Parts: sequence; structure tokens; C-alpha cells
Amino acid sequence: MHRKIFGLEPVILVVDDQTTDIRMLSEAVRDLGNVQLATDGRSAILAARRWGPDVVLLDIEMPGMNGFEVCRALKSDPKTCDAAVIFVTSHTQTENELRALDYGGIDFLQKPLNIPLARARIKAHIALRNEAKKLANHDALTGLPNRFLLQDRIEQALQNAQSSQGQVAMLLIHLDNLKAISDSFGQSVSDELLREVSSRLTACSQAVDTVSRQRGEEFIILLPDVSGVDAIGALTVRLLSAVSAPFSIQANRYDLSASIGISVFPDDSHSLDSLYQHADSAMCRARQEGRNRYRFFSSDIESSIRAKQLLEQGMRNTLEHGLFDVFYQAKIDARDNRVMGVEALIRWRDGDGNFIPPMDFIPLAEETGLIVPIGQFVLLKACMDAKKFYEHGQAIPVSVNISAVQLQEESFLGMVMNILADSGLSPELLELEITEGVHASPLYNTRETLIALRALGVRISIDDFGTGYSNLTYLKRFPIDVLKIDQSFVKDLLVDKSDAAIIVAIIAFAEALGLELVAEGVETCEQAATLRSLGCNIMQGFLYSRPIPFAHMCTFLAEAATNDVTP
Ligand code: C2E
Ligand code: CA
Ligand code: CA
Repeated sequence: MHRKIFGLEPVILVVDDQTTDIRMLSEAVRDLGNVQLATDGRSAILAARRWGPDVVLLDIEMPGMNGFEVCRALKSDPKTCDAAVIFVTSHTQTENELRALDYGGIDFLQKPLNIPLARARIKAHIALRNEAKKLANHDALTGLPNRFLLQDRIEQALQNAQSSQGQVAMLLIHLDNLKAISDSFGQSVSDELLREVSSRLTACSQAVDTVSRQRGEEFIILLPDVSGVDAIGALTVRLLSAVSAPFSIQANRYDLSASIGISVFPDDSHSLDSLYQHADSAMCRARQEGRNRYRFFSSDIESSIRAKQLLEQGMRNTLEHGLFDVFYQAKIDARDNRVMGVEALIRWRDGDGNFIPPMDFIPLAEETGLIVPIGQFVLLKACMDAKKFYEHGQAIPVSVNISAVQLQEESFLGMVMNILADSGLSPELLELEITEGVHASPLYNTRETLIALRALGVRISIDDFGTGYSNLTYLKRFPIDVLKIDQSFVKDLLVDKSDAAIIVAIIAFAEALGLELVAEGVETCEQAATLRSLGCNIMQGFLYSRPIPFAHMCTFLAEAATNDVTP
């Protein structure tokens, strides 16, 4: 099989009126490119216009239009004049050969064909053509696609994005101090730097992206298929650090930085020209604001990316300084108002002491992988606190929320076992809350991990049950102890018949499978009473207790043990 290069697979057109000859010729070149056939002059010209062949193997003796006439027609048509025409003939007169060259042919193969020799010559012509095409499409210094090829690819990308409702991004990269280096140390150093920058930029990008050199110290990266602006932000950070890592040329060290301007179709630009102009003006802004940075043309994209980066930075700092906190919310058995367990909920305060809701940062923590160390922090704190409850005479199980990202970590099981050992908490006092989607994940051996945890004595509960996943067969395959009825059903239980019906079904379901049930988000006595009448007795919600700090939970538990927590 020949290698397929983006848009550059050679096309070979074989023209011969003799079936045996055409078969033999096309067989001989089959692996050298995309082979097209024509059996007479007129169809050869049509095929050439359609396929734009790199090489035409052209029989001279054909009825109607002969090879010479075909060649003349090909050479006079701008669409086909580039093709390398190789005549194939059984005539041996020199005069014929001269005439062939006269008509614009570049080589001559004798019938009967010497196949290895013919192949070698055809291959050499294809290589020459490829070189010529590359020169026309690529920057000679760096070998990167040049402006012409880039333009083609942008037009293609815009068309595709239009029909698939996708996004296309253009990153215009200006090397801030290349000119100064070139002025002081000469052209050869700056050429070498440009080559090194090209390979670093290429290494940061994906195969589908086009990294191209424009003029002087400017590069453009085209992202033809963007999966959200966050991905662009992340790539840009990688590009900046790739360019700012020191360069070593002839034993000397050089330092560069880049200013990057970014435009996005269709968010802020609607055509090739506006993409370019907007990327350029964003790049100028990046330069004015102090270089070694990037700017989006759209201020909306800019601020949403900045906000995410600040949030991520904030999470890292908070984690590093151990400043996340964990609150606890009680789960109550409504029959006797006993505390059945507590759920650990992460808490994060910003600089002004205000809480940042978990739903505002957990998704980003999952996206960035920060949820893994954050989750580990929560689990350790929760296990140590539950151990303290136990030491104060309260054997209260603690539930910890586990994100799918954590569960997919190969080290997850080991991590939980270590924390149980370090905290000294009995595994029976730990419950892990996972969401339904976890079971659909093909990534890591979730089922085996859960079975191993269960074997230790850890309990598994399904959080937000009823919202996630319509295929319930996982309930059979996975070791599950508890279903938590999602708060959205509880909220409208009294007003919406279908919510009530769903709760009735979930309760029947849990009974049939022998699972424990917890209703979440219980805020009113009416909700609690209705849930009880339907057969759900364990409740969690503001009606009984809000999430509270560890110290308050200690008091709450002590009071609950003596009095009760009747709402
Ligand atoms: P969740 O696991 O469903 O937790 C219950 C959420 O409902 C908590 O919100 C809790 O404060 C709130 N809640 C409890 N009772 C009531 C009520 O009666 N009414 C109303 N309206 N809300 C009630 P919170 O603490 O903001 O947490 C939100 C979500 O963030 C959690 O939903 C959970 O998915 C996630 N989360 C919290 N802590 C962690 C954590 O340590 N790790 C992970 N992976 N996710 C966490
Ligand atoms: Ca939960
Ligand atoms: Ca929940």
C-alpha cells in the first residue's frame, strides 16, 4: 500500500487502446499512486481534466486521436499542463522520440516494457513532481505549509465547519525578539531558530492542525476542528512555553518569546479575511500588553478562559495549602429520628470568605484532573473525621462523593485502602457515592474496583438516582447497597404527579432488589410525610440539617444521641 499524504497522493493516468497493454501498465504502477485509466485520446483528455494527474503514461499509436495530439491538448490546457507525460510506444525510430519530446513529453518508454526499469523511471518522475509541488506549497526554510497551502486548508476547514456547525480557530504567532537576534547575530542564527521554532510548534499541535510559516517572524496555526475554546487556551499555553524554552545554537543560548492572537469561526469571524484580520489585531494587543502572552479577539472568549484559568489556579493553591474544607450533612431515619450517616461535602471559600459552590468548580476539577488530588484530600479528611466520631462513641458511617474521573484512575482502589489504613477507620463506616454514568464508562475496570471495595466492607451508593442513565442492567452487574433518590424528584413530589410516580417506581424497585433508599433534598414536613407514606424512610435535607462543619456535626451527633432531631 502506498502512503496517503494529505492532498498529495500522486495520480497516474494510463492511456492505451490495447486491453492487454493497459492492464500490464496499470498493474506495474498500481502501488505508486492513484491509477486512472483511459482507452482513447478523447477520454484521456476528459480524465486528465477531472483527476489532474501527476504522471500520464501515454500510448502513441491509438485510433482517432494519437498520443502526440493528446499530449498537445494536455499541454495547452492550464488545468493539465503540469502533468509529466511519458510516451509509451513500440516504434523505435529516433525521429519519433524527438517528436515526443517536442510535444512536451519528458520521457519515453519502449514496448515491450521492461517493467522494473519502467517503474524506476516513473517513480523518479513522481518524486520530482512531489518536490515541485512541495516547493510550490511549502516554505523553503522550514518545510512548513506556506500561505497558499494554508489558504486552501482554511477554505476547506470553513466549509466543513459550516456544514458540521463546528468551530475553526486561527492562531497568529509573532516571535517577539527574533528580529533583534537576527540583527545582532546574523541571518544564519535566525534561520536556525525559525527551523527549531517550527518543529516545537508542530510538536505541540495535532496532526489535523496546519502549522504554517507566513513571512519573517510570523507563524499561523489553523485548528480546523475545535472542540471548545478551552482546548485552544490550553494549546496556547503549551505553545508559549515551547517557544520560551531556551534554544541552543552553535553552543550559544538564545531566548525567544511569542505573542499570540486568536480568532474563532463562527464566534468572532465569518470568513478567511476576518479570521486573519482579527487574529492579527489580537496579536498586536498581546504585543502591546507586554509580549509572551496571548489574546483572543473576542473579549467574551477571553474573559471566560481567563476566569477558568483563575479558577484552576485558585484550586491548585487551595489544595497546596490544604485550605479546602469538608462539611457534613446528616441522613436521618424518619421513623425514629436516628442519624444513619453523614455525607461529606467539599467547601471552598474565596479570598473574601464567601463559599464557592462545588458545582462551580468540581466540573473544572474533573476536566483538569485536579479532582484526583482534591478527592483524595476529601476522602482522607472524611475518614479521619469519621474515626473521631467513632472514638466519641458514635459509629456513624460517612459517605464521600467520588467522581467518575477518580474511579477511572488505576490507583483508585489502592488509594482508598491506604486512606482506610492511615485513618484507622473501619471499612464498614465508609460509603462511596457514585453517579449512574460511571457504569457506562468504558475506560477502566470500574466493576472490578467496586467489587474489591465491597469485599473490604465499603458500601456503594448511587447518587442522583433516576437522572443519569436509562439502562438499568448495571444494577445487576455492579455491587450496590444504596440508591439516593435525586432531589429534583423530591422537590416537585407534592405538585407534579409524574415525579411522585417516579418515586413510587424507584421505591418498588429498591425493595425488589433489596437496596437501601435515601431521599435527597427533603425541605418540608409534607415532603417527609409523603415519602414515608410511600415507603422511603431515610431522608437527607435542609429540613433535618444543613451541611455543617465537623465541630458542629460533633455537637449535632451528641445532641441527637441524647434528644432527637425531630424537625
Ligand atoms: P450531591 O452529592 O447530590 O450533594 C447534595 C447537594 O445538595 C449538596 O450541595 C447539599 O448541600 C445540597 N442539599 C442538601 N440538602 C438539600 C436540601 O434540602 N435542599 C437543597 N436545595 N439542597 C440540598 P453542594 O454541597 O453544593 O454539592 C453539590 C454537588 O457537588 C454534590 O451533589 C456533589 O455532586 C458535588 N460534590 C460536593 N462535594 C464533593 C466532593 O467532595 N467530591 C465530588 N466529586 N463531588 C462533590
Ligand atoms: Ca452525594
Ligand atoms: Ca445527589
